[in-house]
Amino acid sequence: LTDFTGKPTDALRNAGALASDLIRPTVRLGVTGLARAGKTVFITSIVHNLLHGGRLPFFDPMAQGRIVRVYLEPQPDDDVPRFAYEDHLAAMTGADRDWPESTRHISELRLTIEYEPEAFWRRQLGPARLHIDIVDYPGEWLLDLALLDMSYETWSRLALEMAERPERAQAAAPFRRFLREVDPSGAQEEAQAREGAQLFTDYLRASRDAALGLVATPGRFLLPGQFEGTPAVTFCPLPPPEGQKPGRGTLWAMMDRRFESYKSAVVRPFFRDHFARLDRQIVLVDVLSALANGAQAMAEVERALARILECFNPGAKSWLELVLGRRIDRVLFAATKADHVHSESHDRLEAILRHMVRAASGRAEGAGADVDAVALAAVRATREAEVRQGGEPLPTVVGCPRAGEQVGGESFDGTREAAIFPGDLPADPAAALAPDFTLTDASGGEFAFVRFRPPKLQRGALGELPPLPHIRLDRALNFLIGDRIA
Ligand code: GDP
Repeated sequence: LTDFTGKPTDALRNAGALASDLIRPTVRLGVTGLARAGKTVFITSIVHNLLHGGRLPFFDPMAQGRIVRVYLEPQPDDDVPRFAYEDHLAAMTGADRDWPESTRHISELRLTIEYEPEAFWRRQLGPARLHIDIVDYPGEWLLDLALLDMSYETWSRLALEMAERPERAQAAAPFRRFLREVDPSGAQEEAQAREGAQLFTDYLRASRDAALGLVATPGRFLLPGQFEGTPAVTFCPLPPPEGQKPGRGTLWAMMDRRFESYKSAVVRPFFRDHFARLDRQIVLVDVLSALANGAQAMAEVERALARILECFNPGAKSWLELVLGRRIDRVLFAATKADHVHSESHDRLEAILRHMVRAASGRAEGAGADVDAVALAAVRATREAEVRQGGEPLPTVVGCPRAGEQVGGESFDGTREAAIFPGDLPADPAAALAPDFTLTDASGGEFAFVRFRPPKLQRGALGELPPLPHIRLDRALNFLIGDRIA
């Protein structure tokens, strides 16, 4: 059961994983989402809350008092960086409290939960143990699955069509200038490949920053991780030449080869070695920022979510279907940063997200996975207050905007609080996706998403931190792992 390189085949590897699970029950929990969705903050907060007995009334095993002990252990995979939990926690809770550095590559952390089993006969054997291996990775990497079925020519055509759209004209201008000057049939030149890759990456970044290019591939161009500077990420789309394809030694052939390397050396190993081993998945989505950025941004997020969900039900003909060892049987979509809106809006936020994934989640459910949606704040940075405006009560949130944030024309330095009314989320979730929908602030102007500092926590007598405050984190945990602590 080894392939010709002497490595164990996928079947053997999966059988091995299942066998070791019988001895030591393990849940591999994937945490993903597009850049800045809130993955790092989410993992730091669930770990801190579980380790320090946080308030988790809707996490059944905790509510039932069956959790005996929770601790960190060395992770099982030596070739994956460890999630820097301690550093991230220190960043959020230190004297200069600020948000931690975001996810840039894959990382992992093992948490072990010791608990009293529910069944009487199992309790006689003493506490049971469950390992939770949390795997953090950029959602952008999931978008690459679609590339596996494409040739360089097809991908080039699609990527160039996208770059020609009017709303991207500005972001794509330097790259398109480069395209006008190169000859795909000319001799291959490393300098040209590098320049093209750089300009193409700049274009992807600029359109992402304008909240337009979220569904851009290759997913690693913005977060190359260990592949930075390698030929596998040094290519760009070129206009397909008419007639016969340019032969060896041409720029076209060089780019084509690198595109194939990207698929075989970067994309496939990720899906085979990491994605295919997950049991449960949470997909974090920054719905509020997208709402504040307008209808195009919402449509783009919706598209990205549909693409991400395709990975959970790739279809019988897909290569991924063949390597999927175990099945992801639960997928939770979470609208993050819910502390930016008043609790009156939390259910509406949840409904909007549910609406955004409705079509795609039907497909995942067809593949046997349970899909749900929740609105949460991994770390609650605000409190609620009612402010009167013109005699009307306005449900606002109060927090400390980060230095440099602007609220209603006023500039903040990170030391003062502000009360913010982020506008009413629509009761009908479909309205939030309508092309003319805009979120308005208290004065009827366009709502701008403010970044707050993490909350200031009152340490105990011995300097110990209280568990990080959150919103609905316990519901998320219950859906993701509650049934496995039985
Ligand atoms: P990642 O790129 O998915 O790892 O995203 P991060 O976890 O680094 O979060 C990105 C940013 O979102 C942070 O720097 C915070 O500004 C903000 N953020 C994330 N989670 C929360 C939350 O629960 N509450 C608030 N108020 N802000 C959050």
